[in-house]
Amino acid sequence: MNVLVFNSGSSSLKYQLIDTASKKVILKGEVDRIGTPAKDAPRDHSVAMSMVFEKLGTQKVDAIGHRVVHGGPNFSSATLVTAETLKQVESISHLAPLHNPAAMLGVRACRDLMPKIPNVMVFDTAFHATMPEKAYLYALPLEDCKKHNIRRYGAHGTSHDYVSQKVAEMCKKPREKLKIIVCHIGNGASVCAIDKGKSVETSMGLTPLEGLVMGTRSGDIDPAAVEYLAKAHNFTLPQTITYLNKQCGLLGLTGKTSDFRDLLAMYDKGDQTVATAFDVFFHRIVKYIGAYVAVMNGVDVIAFTAGIGNNIPALRQAVIDRLGFLGIKIDPKRNAFHNCNSVTGEITGKGSRARIFAIKTEEELSIATQVEKILSVKC
Ligand code: AMP
Repeated sequence: MNVLVFNSGSSSLKYQLIDTASKKVILKGEVDRIGTPAKDAPRDHSVAMSMVFEKLGTQKVDAIGHRVVHGGPNFSSATLVTAETLKQVESISHLAPLHNPAAMLGVRACRDLMPKIPNVMVFDTAFHATMPEKAYLYALPLEDCKKHNIRRYGAHGTSHDYVSQKVAEMCKKPREKLKIIVCHIGNGASVCAIDKGKSVETSMGLTPLEGLVMGTRSGDIDPAAVEYLAKAHNFTLPQTITYLNKQCGLLGLTGKTSDFRDLLAMYDKGDQTVATAFDVFFHRIVKYIGAYVAVMNGVDVIAFTAGIGNNIPALRQAVIDRLGFLGIKIDPKRNAFHNCNSVTGEITGKGSRARIFAIKTEEELSIATQVEKILSVKC
């Protein structure tokens, strides 16, 4: 089956056409600067989609898969798009304000442009539907949690699912027999504890703002600081949340950029502000890994993935070095090899009590496989 996978950002649209039988990418690309004043920029997602369909030419497309960050309380697996499911997902866009609205624009554009092709939504929250109550409940009045669906949902589920399956395969063990911690460290970042094949804890919460320090997101913060910030900047509440999503994290701490590679170059030149930001960034990752080892009562595998996790040896070295007390070690030579090219491989140090991996995440392939599965069940 040829599945066209879309990953829509607020101003960009990434796509891959994947043959699920051979797992090969037939075509891939990106349309960016959607809705910006840039020269020749597409006006909106609908125009961007028509550009993609034009590029596809006569290529056969059997189905379309859309990455959707948030599925809210009602969507715990990949779902066929119908007028009803589309409406339901649109009604929870506020739970992932940076991501869901763009994905929904993409789904609508596909239905208009290619009405005969089935569309499937694959949710980043779905993999975490197995989290136990003790992990997903906030300590708010239970009635609030239930009535308003306030709970921890997590995100990056497609990646955590794929990477944990991949490392189990590489360990030649069923995933059900392993305790795995996946660190998805990109511009957005989250850690996930996978015990017996199921997500039991993850660092993102109600929205993808909770947890680790990220490119532009603050991650964990005392909720009382929100009021302080709002007063200090004379912001409304929504403006403060946008600030926490877009102006904080590594960008906020350094006052320079959210791009890790650029920051690394500044760090290498001795920039002290960047060094402090890195300390905060690494510290938070170590804190979560330590907590998840405790939550699972042990760990067999730690895997690093995404732009930073897969390509920056210094990040993995800094994090694993702090886990030495657990008898976990990294092989510095093998670790150094995994830079820049997003390759998959084992980087476990000699005598380590847990195995360490750098894994190239394949979210699009995972989405295409789920789309095929849903449609074969429906047929
Ligand atoms: P992601 O959100 O997964 O695309 O990750 C983006 C982050 O990864 C940025 O901070 C980049 O600087 C960083 N990065 C480091 N090496 C690479 C690479 N080879 N390709 C893409 N992003 C990279």
